[in-house]
Amino acid sequence: MTDVLTGPETVPQQRRLVTEVPGPRSRELAARRAAAVTSAVGSVLPVYVQRAGGGVVVDVDGNSFIDLGSGIAVTSVGHAAPEVVAAAQAQVAAFTHTCFMVGPYEGYVAVCEELARLTPGDHEKRSALFNSGAEAVENAVKVARHATGRQAVVVFDHAYHGRTNLTMALTAKNMPYKHRFGPFAGEVFRMPMSYPFRDAPGMTGEQAAARAIGLIESQVGADNVAAVLIEPIQGEGGFVVPAPGFLPALADWSRRSGAVFVADEVQTGFCRTGSWFASEHEQVVPDLVTTAKGIAGGLPLAGLTGRAELLDACHTGGLGGTYGGNPVACAAALATIRTMREQDLAGAARAIEAAVLPRLQALQERTGAIGDVRGRGAMLAVELVRPGTTEPDAGLTTRIAKACHAEGVIVLTAGTFGNVLRLLPPLVIGPELLGEALDVLDAAVAEHAG
Ligand SMILES: *Cc1c(COP(=O)(O)O)cnc(C)c1O
Repeated sequence: MTDVLTGPETVPQQRRLVTEVPGPRSRELAARRAAAVTSAVGSVLPVYVQRAGGGVVVDVDGNSFIDLGSGIAVTSVGHAAPEVVAAAQAQVAAFTHTCFMVGPYEGYVAVCEELARLTPGDHEKRSALFNSGAEAVENAVKVARHATGRQAVVVFDHAYHGRTNLTMALTAKNMPYKHRFGPFAGEVFRMPMSYPFRDAPGMTGEQAAARAIGLIESQVGADNVAAVLIEPIQGEGGFVVPAPGFLPALADWSRRSGAVFVADEVQTGFCRTGSWFASEHEQVVPDLVTTAKGIAGGLPLAGLTGRAELLDACHTGGLGGTYGGNPVACAAALATIRTMREQDLAGAARAIEAAVLPRLQALQERTGAIGDVRGRGAMLAVELVRPGTTEPDAGLTTRIAKACHAEGVIVLTAGTFGNVLRLLPPLVIGPELLGEALDVLDAAVAEHAG
């Protein structure tokens, strides 16, 4: 076994730049890439990764970056988490694939048992496993339509649900996700989101829900709605946290109307927001929950979990796929969940919020360019605007992000207007590493926003 595989102990938890960024080996790889990889796939960082452990990513030139992105909320349990590495290695040696639809195995069943235990609500549940978040969302729509005999799917402004044909239709933002990729799937209806920073001042969650419900009833018809699909905190859309009361009101309306309420917890799930699932913060019990990203410590796995009568309404063979619930991904997921439970990573996410939020708020007091600070747990963001307005400043957001990258800190951007700087650190990141990364962010904001 090489030391690359034994986790944080062998990747020093430090920020350390030993070359310019990008260094010569990264520049070489960038040239090879340009000749072989489509330019339609982009990358945030200008460097190429050699290894990663805990909260640190090391590039091919030996530069160490503090990771506040977790590969988009995936390595919540930390890079190369020892239990996950061991479980995946053992499973690789036992068998890598049989296809659950051909030769079933325990790992798939055990992941579905965990999903039933961990997702909100104590009703009877069933699950199916897939490879990506988009696939889980597509299957949620299939199940909701099949079970209700209805077709309409209600989604929201700023929503992100994936890049496949159906999920492009469900996703709000044109560039880069949808531009010239149509025609899109039909029977998708977009409603206004509760977005406290941009809604009328003082608009409550209940009022924002009434606004959306009024439009659903007049434009779609309550009897036609198969599913109301929403991210409890929006991810790519800019970490939009709806006003309290918005989600419960939509869930109640769905129940009364016979529509399936689907929480897309692909980004918010698995301890990211300080509880297992973000729906819990408002005691919302969704009919269906989609999961992916943080579920398996970096292995590709996604889940659709929900009421047994909905999932079991489908004919046998109606759901599935060659790789869905791959045994290595399932072994990694079980180890990830065990680690999250044993190390109380939901508590760790709350501790990250307690440490980071005051610092972002202090930063907001120092610069007029931060219009809003928001988020929950280890899913936190600032929205950058022209001082004194709510006018988005995407250029400034990009400059700050690039300045952080150049100084060895990985941050991501988001938002319909490209003006949200988002933080998604691994939940195992130590307070010192986190503090140092925030010092770098502070300096980048001071330099570029004044
Ligand atoms: C990332 C994401 C998806 C899509 O997941 P993929 O694994 O990229 O297909 C869907 N919904 C939400 C909320 C996401 O953040």
